[in-house]
Amino acid sequence: MVSRVIPVDNFDLVIFGGTGDLARRKILPGLFRRYCAGQIPEDAQIIGAARSDEGDEGFRKLVGDAVREFGGGRHCEDGTLENFLERVKYVRVDAMGDDGWEELQGRLRLGVVKAFYFSVGPSLFGALAERLRSFGLADDDSRVVVEKPFGHDLETARALNATLAQHFKEEQIYRIDHYLGKETVQNLMAVRFGNMLFEPLWNSQYVDHIQITVAETVDVGGRGGYYDKSGAMRDMVQNHLMQLLCLIAMEPPARFEPDAVRDEKLKVIRALDPVDYHHIARGQYAADDDQPGYRVHVGDPRSKTESFVALKCHISNWRWAGTPFYLRTGKKLRGRGSEIAVVFKDAPHSIFGDEAGRHNNILAIRLQPDEGMTLGVTIKEPGPGGMRLIDVPLDMSFAEALGAEAEDVPDAYERLIMDVIRGNQTLFMRGDEVEAAWAWTDPIIEGWNRRGEVPKPYDAGSSGPEDALMLMHRDGRKWREIKA
Ligand code: NAD
Repeated sequence: MVSRVIPVDNFDLVIFGGTGDLARRKILPGLFRRYCAGQIPEDAQIIGAARSDEGDEGFRKLVGDAVREFGGGRHCEDGTLENFLERVKYVRVDAMGDDGWEELQGRLRLGVVKAFYFSVGPSLFGALAERLRSFGLADDDSRVVVEKPFGHDLETARALNATLAQHFKEEQIYRIDHYLGKETVQNLMAVRFGNMLFEPLWNSQYVDHIQITVAETVDVGGRGGYYDKSGAMRDMVQNHLMQLLCLIAMEPPARFEPDAVRDEKLKVIRALDPVDYHHIARGQYAADDDQPGYRVHVGDPRSKTESFVALKCHISNWRWAGTPFYLRTGKKLRGRGSEIAVVFKDAPHSIFGDEAGRHNNILAIRLQPDEGMTLGVTIKEPGPGGMRLIDVPLDMSFAEALGAEAEDVPDAYERLIMDVIRGNQTLFMRGDEVEAAWAWTDPIIEGWNRRGEVPKPYDAGSSGPEDALMLMHRDGRKWREIKA
């Protein structure tokens, strides 16, 4: 099947931090793949802007290397990379000073979409926003793309929103949560709101509980310094897991339009009950025989930061009262995978008797790896021996079902950047959403600090601390397995 590629308007995209890790791993290879897909106009400009002295040629080399290392379009013809690189420029700019801004201004064109991607540390966001205006680079139609973390808590997020608001309207600000750009996440909305099958059952009458898991096998790697000030709650739950929770739990918006969707997501966050601290498990991966643990990785032998968190929460509204949501994320776990599982209630009565066995239907939405959905359906075990029930998956791997290879499904960053150029904010977080999410997570973190809580150690390669298993066990439920 040939995917339909919607062309975008001509644009100038400036990537502040264009030489950084995120730009090299995600943004630049993603832009190249869109170029291969024919989505980037021939005279678009992609301008790297960072502190080092690269020059156009040096930056083109960096981009070429990044594309080769982190995945270019497989179906590109020879010479496509060279053509793409002709669109790539570089200006040395100091976000905190005056250097380079006039040159950058001189490279931008009138009459095309202008987008400025802040792929730099958050301490530079305010300085960039201010200089974009004072040097006359941005106008009222320009867009700014802001990376995570968006604040460290409610207070800093509010301050950041206020700073951005001094220079840009909310319609110009694109706060990235790359989870929202994933194919499956959008498919979740298509499945919920494009079918009659699921939505009538999508409530506490039929749904026993929902599990959202984002499991990583990696340790904190080179990000130890940043991570130790943040922890799993700030780094993952406040943004990615809460965004997934919103999409699963929200009411159908009247239209698939930015504010209609974001209004519904905001209502979910506002309906979340405060979390009882007995309903939270917090962990930190320990050292094992041949590998150092979290505290060595972050260089603080007394660190109290969590690399794992699991919690149970409730949404107090008509749809969800009584259905718990279990959220779990961590590093150095047994397997890598992100999944949302909607676990339906038992059938009210088994006509086959208890000996036939009983299974809940589970709709599992896999975000990675291998994006797709599986619906567990109960059928009769084949063969003689009476009526015994088994659970079989109706499996839909998007790549397979759509006849495309996994690599052809656009990466989250590719999709989101194209949405910026199109001016579509549906998959970006609005300022009030981000603040509401912090308002919910802040008291949890404050509670840990107030009680001087230390996260429980867990074995690297396990499924997290014992407390997390108990969180489910106490409710007579169990986590879905994190596959190795
Ligand atoms: P990085 O340290 O690798 O790169 C930082 C970039 O900013 C470099 O290009 C550097 O030249 C530029 N820079 C620094 N100070 C500057 C200044 N004064 N003026 C102009 N340019 C300056 O960082 P990164 O990992 O690419 O992360 C960038 C942003 O993206 C951060 O906000 C980070 O939290 C976020 N983020 C990164 C990742 C990731 O996987 N790396 C994932 C999600 C979000």
